[in-house]
Amino acid sequence: MATSLQLPNFIDGRWQAVPGAEFLDVFNPATAERLAQVPMTSAPEVDEAVRAAARAFEDWRRTPVTERVQYLFRLKQLLEEHFEDIARTITLECGKTLDESRGELRRGIENVEVACGAPAMMQGYNSEDIAQGIDETMIRQPLGVVAAVTPFNFPSMIPLWFTPYAVAFGNCIVLKPSERVPLTLRKVVELIEATGLPAGVVQLVNGDRHTVDAILDHPSIRAISFVGSSPVARYVYSRACAAGKRAQCQGGARNPIVVLPDADLSSAGQIAADSAFGCAGQRCLAGSLALTVGGAREPFGEVMANLARDRRMGYGLEEGVQMGPVITPRSKERIEALIAQGVSEGARLLVDGRGRKVPGHEHGNFIGPTILQDLPPAGELAATEVFGPVLGMIHCDDLQQAIELINQGAYGNMACLFTASGAAARKFRYEVRAGNIGINLGVAAPMAFFPFSGWKDSFFGDLHGQGWDAVEFYTEKKVVVERWPREWSRKF
Ligand code: NAD
Repeated sequence: MATSLQLPNFIDGRWQAVPGAEFLDVFNPATAERLAQVPMTSAPEVDEAVRAAARAFEDWRRTPVTERVQYLFRLKQLLEEHFEDIARTITLECGKTLDESRGELRRGIENVEVACGAPAMMQGYNSEDIAQGIDETMIRQPLGVVAAVTPFNFPSMIPLWFTPYAVAFGNCIVLKPSERVPLTLRKVVELIEATGLPAGVVQLVNGDRHTVDAILDHPSIRAISFVGSSPVARYVYSRACAAGKRAQCQGGARNPIVVLPDADLSSAGQIAADSAFGCAGQRCLAGSLALTVGGAREPFGEVMANLARDRRMGYGLEEGVQMGPVITPRSKERIEALIAQGVSEGARLLVDGRGRKVPGHEHGNFIGPTILQDLPPAGELAATEVFGPVLGMIHCDDLQQAIELINQGAYGNMACLFTASGAAARKFRYEVRAGNIGINLGVAAPMAFFPFSGWKDSFFGDLHGQGWDAVEFYTEKKVVVERWPREWSRKF
């Protein structure tokens, strides 16, 4: 019998228990309290969800886009009304501070706002008289059933990178949240249900990699949006493409922040610390490598060490806390092992966050901000995504050397530069091979009306999430060529 802790799926407009499913426990990473049990949906239930979506698609694609966006206007309103409750849920299951949760939800809502522009965004174009009496028109049509598979670190924002656009452009979507943070999306989907959206347009299926395989192999799913680690992104991309699906797969990162000696080191330090240690370093745009140039090495190291030591770590729901725990005990172990690896590779531990306890929350997965100075640039750790509050520092002789180091890296999600020089900034922007560039910024997160870029092993595909790329990804272009000879119109 289902217990109150066991989460349902949302299929065909109904919340449904998943009979016979295996369940995984969901824990609060700060307190280790069990919050819920999440079902591992198997292929037959995924098929049920996809069939419901395919049935709904027939009417949904015929619903005028001006009507489709009315549900999004309502959703925006409901998300605002339930803003604090959702932010609190993010903190409960994901561990970030309440302010960080509010920030991510705000970025998610911005995507709902942008997708409300669908009537203009999905217009096609036409040419009259491409030959005498012949007109040519490009119209955009929805794909049909699409799916999104999302990671643990932004449980509200990342599903909202995809859902509003997919639905506004006339598709029906199957959502598979991370099994570690299923509660937030449940709340968001409850609000989607409350907008009165027709049954079947949005489905929520919980699960793990087997559920993802069932999605990837389903013949009726036309496109997959994926966000997660690079090995899984590469796998999802290959399997989706082999099955003839459209795919956009965002992966991991190792983001460098270059600091030139002419930068304002105190503000650069503050911004870089927020980038490296914000969300406990569990952000795909975390600046996890600081490359100091010339005379910036000593003073910047000092500024960062002070900021790392001063950062207040604790339970994200408590006032004044600046950094929460990492997601699981396993994650904590992995990060601590990577810190030890950095030391064995020859880095100097400027600040060691291992072994720190938060009074009252001794069972939480806490690791304090950590700085590894003089990390060997050719070592394994410099090339490894840590996904924890650990900043590696590497020293470079000049900007050219820093750019070469960045361009040798396998990832290409983001690169930032702190400088007062326009010429240095232009060189950096022009030469660095990364999809998101920040100048005097630590987290260069694109607004919803820009693509969330990402290059190299940080992205598999060609069309990114958000903005105009979303129109291209979630619609198919149809070209119609019509001949209406002039003599025929003489009858009229
Ligand atoms: P993850 O790759 O472990 O999981 C992501 C999703 O894939 C989850 O829904 C999970 O259930 C599923 N999954 C896991 N293993 C799978 C497998 N073998 N086959 C099929 N599906 C599988 O990632 P995570 O730990 O949840 O999230 C952290 C990662 O996501 C980091 O690497 C981070 O950099 C990345 N990320 C990237 C971006 C970006 O925009 N590029 C944004 C956020 C997070």
